[in-house]
Amino acid sequence: MKTQRQIPVTSYKASGFIEKYQDIVHREVIPYQHNVLFDLAEGAEKSHVAANFINAAKALKGEDVGDGFYGMVFQDSDAYKWLEAAAYAIADNPDKKLEQNVDELIDIIAEAQDKDGYLNTYFTIKDTEKRWTNLLEGHELYCAGHLIEAACAYYEATNKRKLLDIAVKNAECIYERFVAQNTEGIPGHPEIELALLRLYRLTENKHFLELSERFINERGKAPDFWAREAAKRDWSVWNSDPWSNDYRQSAKPVREQTEATGHAVRAVYLYTGMADLAAETDDKELFAACRRLWENIVHKKMYITGGIGSTVQGEAFTVDHDLPPDTAYAETCASVGLIFFAEKMLENEINGEYGDIMELAFYNTVLAGMQLDGKRFFYVNPLEIDLGISGKACTHSHVLPSRPQWYACACCPPNVARLIRSIGKYAYGENGDTAFCHLFTSGKASFSNGMSIECTTNYPYDMAVKYAVCGSGKIAIRIPKWSKNFTLQINGEKVLRTPENGYIFIDVDKNAEITLTLDGTPRFMKASNKVPRLTGMTALMRGPLVYCFEGVDNGDVRALRIDRSQTPTIGEFDPQLLGGTVKITAKAFRAEDCDDLYSDAAEELTPCEAVAIPYYAWGNRGENDMRVWVNVV
Ligand code: ZN
Repeated sequence: MKTQRQIPVTSYKASGFIEKYQDIVHREVIPYQHNVLFDLAEGAEKSHVAANFINAAKALKGEDVGDGFYGMVFQDSDAYKWLEAAAYAIADNPDKKLEQNVDELIDIIAEAQDKDGYLNTYFTIKDTEKRWTNLLEGHELYCAGHLIEAACAYYEATNKRKLLDIAVKNAECIYERFVAQNTEGIPGHPEIELALLRLYRLTENKHFLELSERFINERGKAPDFWAREAAKRDWSVWNSDPWSNDYRQSAKPVREQTEATGHAVRAVYLYTGMADLAAETDDKELFAACRRLWENIVHKKMYITGGIGSTVQGEAFTVDHDLPPDTAYAETCASVGLIFFAEKMLENEINGEYGDIMELAFYNTVLAGMQLDGKRFFYVNPLEIDLGISGKACTHSHVLPSRPQWYACACCPPNVARLIRSIGKYAYGENGDTAFCHLFTSGKASFSNGMSIECTTNYPYDMAVKYAVCGSGKIAIRIPKWSKNFTLQINGEKVLRTPENGYIFIDVDKNAEITLTLDGTPRFMKASNKVPRLTGMTALMRGPLVYCFEGVDNGDVRALRIDRSQTPTIGEFDPQLLGGTVKITAKAFRAEDCDDLYSDAAEELTPCEAVAIPYYAWGNRGENDMRVWVNVV
């Protein structure tokens, strides 16, 4: 029995802060990415995505494939993720031109599908004999997962079936191989597990539930599978080690796993599928495994910004408490995946912690992944930039001080786009008579019990959240753990409520005006002593926002010594600053630098004010030093 489920993407229309971001995605990101797919974007690396589909169609007809395949083995997924983001954009903002672009790309994709439903341009162009022979690296199942997600999204947005029919045919082709014919195999990169469950709910075709279950349940049962598979072929994509089972979350059956390991995006996509399956089939054992993995991530392996996967080596988790701020990997996609995981956990258990982490990852790492104008993107999200070292030293070459335009491996930008455009599915949920408000996103949400909620707020800057409720039923509102106190008014009257599992529940008999005011006091945070490098340091938060100190406001940020005993000052909302933001100023001291590399001179401290801006807005005023964690006096 699900504790709640997502509302359809068409049931939420954003306003305010979220609408501004959705608008940037619609206006800037989606058209730009469309140009990238067709190699029309000036200054961007060639993607060849659409050309790969066109060439695959030629290959199927036995024609000359022209310039063949170009790009990553998973290049097709860029098209699918773009389609998914575009579908969400169309869902609540009719856009004929965009819809036409989508339909044209779908026509191109349709031609690249083989008669049996197989669809992958890399193998169709290069060598059809190699299909399904390298699940370790070939990413056929990963790409299929993104195709399925795009198809579900576009059908939900427009009721158009063409892409859905392609995805169903592709999923049936995979079902035939791995279930009907019982061929051994699991995805090297999880994604299809969660996508199949979505397709199952949409089509009610049990094959897709069975196939997802199979991929999840078989994982880790035969840890030598990849090695046996590798021994049968004489080629590889990246020479991946077939024994690195921790890296692929396949060292143990999923129900026995206790620790988040390996590639962070793969991990959270897998856990999302597991949590979804647990809720769908009421599998308590599977949910218990999800809960262990969740706790391991959020209590031992997550940055204060909601970033996960701390090392560049394999874009992966390392060991507990290894969270260096300066060499952080913290891929944007991994935080997107963490949000997916959190929402599926909410479908198993109503617990405010999931919403707390969703908003932490969203307002910090995910939004930091995109430049404020939507034109450039971070893949890596460090918590510290030291110009001269970051991006330069061989240990820090992945840590860039400014967002690049596009990547050959372009996973993050379309992931950010699809999440922002579909945020209503994460912000609001429902179960029978109860409407859940997990995130404080302004706009109008409607629910299947006939209720609708108009949420008005300037969150994350204003801590007052107003809900105008129409209809009758129950409303559940998350009270974030960071809010030490809160006030609640219903129809103008102050009401006392104690949160249960992080939520307050309000019965609404016809209409109601509810105002929730959270505690917006800035918070000086500290890290556990178990985290090296952060002892004696502090980070500043307000609401869900992590703040950071940039050189442009503070000069040498390494010289700052924050005075935690003084209450920081919250600035006025400045609509001109960084797309509209609030600065926070903390009392601090500046330590005089010494000329020598080392010195025994006493530290000279001069009082100063340290100015902080939200982490999501860093790197938008030219290259400069940045710190989330700063020394205390
Ligand atoms: Zn990515």
